Amino acid sequence: MSENFPKLIWFKGKIVPWADATVHVMAHALHYGSSVFEGIRSYETPNGPAIFRLGEHIKRFFNSASMYDLNVGFTPAQMAEACKEVIRANNLTAAYLRPISYRGAGGFGLGADNATETSIAAWVWGPYLGADAVTGGIDACISTWTRIAPNTLPATAKAGGNYLSSILISREARRLGFQEGIALSVDGYVSEGAGENMFVVMGGKIYTPPMAASILQGITRDTAIRLAKAEGIEVSEQNIPREMLYFADECFMTGTAAEITPIKSVDRKQVGTGQPGPITRLLQERFFGLFKGTTPDTHGWLDHI
Ligand code: PMP
Repeated sequence: MSENFPKLIWFKGKIVPWADATVHVMAHALHYGSSVFEGIRSYETPNGPAIFRLGEHIKRFFNSASMYDLNVGFTPAQMAEACKEVIRANNLTAAYLRPISYRGAGGFGLGADNATETSIAAWVWGPYLGADAVTGGIDACISTWTRIAPNTLPATAKAGGNYLSSILISREARRLGFQEGIALSVDGYVSEGAGENMFVVMGGKIYTPPMAASILQGITRDTAIRLAKAEGIEVSEQNIPREMLYFADECFMTGTAAEITPIKSVDRKQVGTGQPGPITRLLQERFFGLFKGTTPDTHGWLDHI
């Protein structure tokens, strides 16, 4: 295994050895992508380990499940507690959590109502786009793959099947020597990265694509918007033409896995100075400050384990 996975997993309501948490080869989700999942992070804080915005992640998880009529089989409160349990069981502090519900084996038709199975893994997962990405920034490209259209697959539901689009965007970018790909919407405006939301800074103001641009409503996106507004920085959720990325003073991406990652260049065109800009750095400082204790947690975003 390439990741350094811990010993235990929360599987169908119980903590079991990692190797026992298996799925049948005829599971509906394996064939058709009928799974929904979350990506959540816990951090070490001066007051002990805490899960970031757990309630919002659990809410999005249940919304995604309802989109595909998946019965999670546990209440939101039980899922939240199970997230804490799997961290405690593995003696983790700063970790990445992956709750998933998927349609299991049984009927094989597309509309089959097979029982849903639910599990939560937790492991130590460093910065998604590499160790230097958060500090130094990344080189990104515009993907030749367009993001899913609003009337094809719902982008706001975090379903396994959606990630075939993200896989194409990510693999194409890496094949061409970039660290991440950015997709345009069917209308040709900036949508999002393979697994991150997009932000542009121009003239001291922040711009980010709206919900209508086929984006996942990122929880880190919401965090960045609120942190920016708290600093008196104006944030506009509006369609962003592709060339705005080239003309921008700063660009950055947000995501639970990617956190706040500056973008140094897009399509080999340097963004701003080619270094993480002052607004990106300020938001990073405020964001990571939530976990270091230097940014007050005024919203109650830290859920202590
Ligand atoms: N867009 C996509 C497609 C993603 O997979 C993610 C990661 N969950 C995001 C955006 C960022 O969302 P969040 O900040 O909630 O992790």
